[in-house]
Amino acid sequence: MNQPVTGKPGRYWHALEDGRIQCDVCPRYCKLHEGQRGLCFVRTRQGDQMVLTTYGRSSGFCIDPIEKKPLNHFLPGTPVLSFGTAGCNLTCKFCQNWDISKARDLDRIQDVASPEMIAEAAVRSGCRSVAFTYNDPVIFLEYAVDVAQACRERGIKTVAVSAGYISPEPRIEFFRHMDAANIDLKAFTEGFYKNLCSGKLACVLETLEYLKHETNVWFEITTLLIPGENDSPAEIEAESAWVMDRLGPDVPLHFTGFHPDWKLTDRPPTPPQTLRMARRIAIDAGLHYVYTGNIHDPSGQTTHCHACGAVLIGRDWHDITEWILSADGSCGECGARCHGIFDGIAGRWGRRRKPVRLRASMSEVSVL
Ligand code: SF4
Repeated sequence: MNQPVTGKPGRYWHALEDGRIQCDVCPRYCKLHEGQRGLCFVRTRQGDQMVLTTYGRSSGFCIDPIEKKPLNHFLPGTPVLSFGTAGCNLTCKFCQNWDISKARDLDRIQDVASPEMIAEAAVRSGCRSVAFTYNDPVIFLEYAVDVAQACRERGIKTVAVSAGYISPEPRIEFFRHMDAANIDLKAFTEGFYKNLCSGKLACVLETLEYLKHETNVWFEITTLLIPGENDSPAEIEAESAWVMDRLGPDVPLHFTGFHPDWKLTDRPPTPPQTLRMARRIAIDAGLHYVYTGNIHDPSGQTTHCHACGAVLIGRDWHDITEWILSADGSCGECGARCHGIFDGIAGRWGRRRKPVRLRASMSEVSVL
């Protein structure tokens, strides 16, 4: 007998001849019998359809600096209302958010929030954007899209922080609703993706090319460098050359530091000199905007004009310390365009992080 449907009916699935149904959201293409869950744990087969069990449920809200996503060229200095749900469609042994992404009994789900509540909370808290982050929004696509639509109606932008592991058809819908993204390019070998994430590098590269050539989404790339796994100069050179060749010089690339976590605790934290070395390699490959992250490195977090070398945006952690961009994002020294989404002067949110609870009361939303 079919179970009652307790989640939001999902899109992107089809019935197979053998009686199973296949989820088509991501390249895992989970094939499920009645009552089974996909690898991400939040999509399940109920009543002969796929449903999303985390629709409208969040693992908590926090107002972050936009630079924390990290996005250095998207409304710099502004606060972003950030949230995630539970589960993930990759199995990274080094996961840095494992308490959320590996949540199984949904015990991390604290807040119930409709798309309208979230968008309204962003307006009331002075945020310019809402970020789907902490876990991958690909797996809660229907919820993320509805939130994005509610945000657009109120002039709030949306940001996807994602590994880019999504199938071609849902990719079109998902990114049509996003204004910006940070895509986690975890390494540049299929072996790494297979052994440490049970995924495929080629699918992520496809998403990056799609974003660059078929959308207007502003996106930046992050690679977490793990000692002994993906930090060789040869691999960094190969990644940088691919970005330069396929995406061009103006896509920002962030190299961030690993700390031992989840199932990869036998590796040391990434030495700062490795991050600086990676940055140098990528700049030498021709990329205009390359950053270090998760370490204190003001020079590695500075944006320079690609034409004249002037400091356009100085940063100390997530604080903006210098700014000579014009309102439309041109260099104050030579007038060359700095690529990104800029809107007047820099925001003043700084490095603060502010956890918030949403409370809906009749027709209004309070941010506690
Ligand atoms: S979204 Fe979840 S259920 Fe669907 S294919 Fe990916 S891991 Fe499987």
